[in-house]
Amino acid sequence: MMVWSRNMGTYQNLPGESVLKLSSTFLSGLAGLVLYYCTTAQVVATPRDDDFVLNNIIHIMYHEAGHALIDQFELPVIGQEEDAADAFATINVIDAFENFDVLLSDTAMAMIALQDASDSDDIDFFSEHDLDIQRGMRIICFGVGAEPDKFKDIAASFEMTHEQIENCADRFDQSMLGWHDLLKSSYRKEDAPRADLRISYAPSDTYKKERALLLNSAVLEDFGADLVDQFAWGSKLKIIARECGEANAFYEPATGSISICYEMMTLLRGLDTGLENE
Ligand SMILES: [Zn+2]
Repeated sequence: MMVWSRNMGTYQNLPGESVLKLSSTFLSGLAGLVLYYCTTAQVVATPRDDDFVLNNIIHIMYHEAGHALIDQFELPVIGQEEDAADAFATINVIDAFENFDVLLSDTAMAMIALQDASDSDDIDFFSEHDLDIQRGMRIICFGVGAEPDKFKDIAASFEMTHEQIENCADRFDQSMLGWHDLLKSSYRKEDAPRADLRISYAPSDTYKKERALLLNSAVLEDFGADLVDQFAWGSKLKIIARECGEANAFYEPATGSISICYEMMTLLRGLDTGLENE
């Protein structure tokens, strides 16, 4: 695989690896065609503890950063912007975090669990997002493609063939090089100043615990520092943690800010990931 090399501090709060079991059943219908999907796989992951929540938040924030870059640097998008943002997030997580296998496994499992939790009658095939399960499996695919050795147990648990692994490596390389090429005039030059970074944590009576967890983890500070280190943002970069009235995260072009909702943390913690400690 090719390497997009840069270095930053690694997220130190990751727990030791443990082998957990994931079961997922996905049922969907399209024009009378019923697709039945079922997988049981052993993956390296954390249970739904603080680290599971924070690992997911990191991927979500880089996803929103992908949207921010597309907007602020007027990058062309071929295909779905949501796919491009997911790819940006996965590429950056692989590049920046030593335990990216745990981080990506947690993110993929959350997406698969979200799919499981959704009503199969309500699946929107015209959505700007692919189905959560596809997004989750693509994250696994990129991880396996980028670092087959680190992901070999995960690849084996999904019974991935040699051909599929090679295919994932090609897709990861293509996406990583595509992003790198698109961003080449957006990187901050070594001696150029960094954009101002503003991070705020809005008070919330309902989500005190989530706010404290996010604040104490410094995940947003590390994320923001990485973004202003890498890119020559035209104005200050604002990151806002707040109560939004929904479990989501946003990039808002009008203000150039990235918001993460405390409700998303509650949603992640409550996901039934089918995880059991062995
Ligand atoms: Zn998005």
